Amino acid sequence: MEKIISLAKRRGFVYPSSEIYGGFSGVYDYGPFGVELESNLKAQWWRKMVYERDDIVGLDSSIFMNPKIWEASGHTKGFSDPLAECKECNTRIRVDKALEEIGVFADEKMEEKEIDKIFKENIDKIKCIKCGGQDFTDVKKFNLLVKSNLGDFTNDNSDPAYLRGETCQGIYVNYKNVLDSMHLKLPFGIAQIGKAFRNEISPRQFIFRGREFEQMEMQYFTRPENEMSEFEKLREYRWNAILDLGINEENLRWKQHENLVFYAKDAYDIEYKFPWGFDELEGVHARGNYDLTAHSKGCGKQLDYFDQESGERFIPHIIESSTGVGRLVFAILAEAYTEDELGGNTRVYLKFKPQIAPVKAAVFPLMKNKPELVEKARGVYSALKKEIPQIMWDDNGNVGKRYRRQDEIGTPYCITIDFDTLENDTVTVRDRDTGEQERMVITELIGYIKNAIK
Ligand code: ATP
Repeated sequence: MEKIISLAKRRGFVYPSSEIYGGFSGVYDYGPFGVELESNLKAQWWRKMVYERDDIVGLDSSIFMNPKIWEASGHTKGFSDPLAECKECNTRIRVDKALEEIGVFADEKMEEKEIDKIFKENIDKIKCIKCGGQDFTDVKKFNLLVKSNLGDFTNDNSDPAYLRGETCQGIYVNYKNVLDSMHLKLPFGIAQIGKAFRNEISPRQFIFRGREFEQMEMQYFTRPENEMSEFEKLREYRWNAILDLGINEENLRWKQHENLVFYAKDAYDIEYKFPWGFDELEGVHARGNYDLTAHSKGCGKQLDYFDQESGERFIPHIIESSTGVGRLVFAILAEAYTEDELGGNTRVYLKFKPQIAPVKAAVFPLMKNKPELVEKARGVYSALKKEIPQIMWDDNGNVGKRYRRQDEIGTPYCITIDFDTLENDTVTVRDRDTGEQERMVITELIGYIKNAIK
């Protein structure tokens, strides 16, 4: 974990937010390579969930929404985690997670009293993460919605606008709009990528748990009787989509929820083996008709579906897939982190699949003080960059050092322009994983890299 966090910071993937002011808990910034990796992962998700599907369309709903939405969905009352505070040092812990760590089941859906009882029964095994103390306050449910003072000109904030706690509510409340403007037939899905905010009690574990984070969610609307068969299809589809990113199947597993919320038909998480063990990467849930029914009651409007062929009216059931971008970036970094020996030296490199690597190829002039080499290399670089934007120029230090730097950020190919290039228009292309080089004519380069990232 420390090695990944340190490489992520040193090489411009992820920085702690507000670092020069001492940081800010639960928030992170993505650096120059992090933003490219993140955007590649989002683009892959969009491709899988929207472009490769005729039955799913996209949406970008706003972060602020009418506060009544969060009441109708149950979030103002029920969107909470159990919290206890260390009486010695006032550190707050998330009780269900602390219990989970010692192998005792409890979850945020349980009543406050029930979790408090389990917590107290196991108190001798739980220690404060900061001071090691074992004297805690009673368990209290803490609401995770983040309030704002948007539009609160009287300063009493009695009806606060929230920063959305999940992106899917924006999808539910636009269900009718999308249905009407696109003339969709069941089953169909609406996909969205966007920021979400939660007042997480104990945001540890790097970008795994942030207070500000991004979600990629797809809500799929079905006829009631097809909910569970579509659910099985979606589970398979999402599992394969994650494997496609280059994650080893051994590091993934399904976890079925033990304690379902009253409306859910079934719920599974795809767990990834993070450095501390298997933990949730993505949720795939069958939600019945709860969401549209709740909003229909909340707004007083029909959110049903009219089937023209059968003449029936009903509220569609929903299955969803929901992934955190930060959790996926973390999983991909952990998966790609590799140490090996090359040419007698140990090296660290990120073994990204070329499709998701932040830099696809780096172009080097063999020597930077030879204008004819630099000019030729600049020509190759510009021609490549026109076709493939994630190309990097590097002329810093000797070629060996450049290779190591590119290995550390996971660049699959390094292209060197040397004196032979001036003679015969060939370059060396060095493969990140094997360290082997082959000579290639310049005109073949674009096709070669495009093929690798297809
Ligand atoms: P957890 O049990 O870990 O708190 P959750 O079950 O509350 O997560 P969901 O509400 O199902 O999570 O959110 C869907 C997805 O959004 C999760 O699978 C995860 O990838 C992501 N996610 C949720 N909370 C966070 C967070 N605080 N930081 C980063 N990603 C998150």
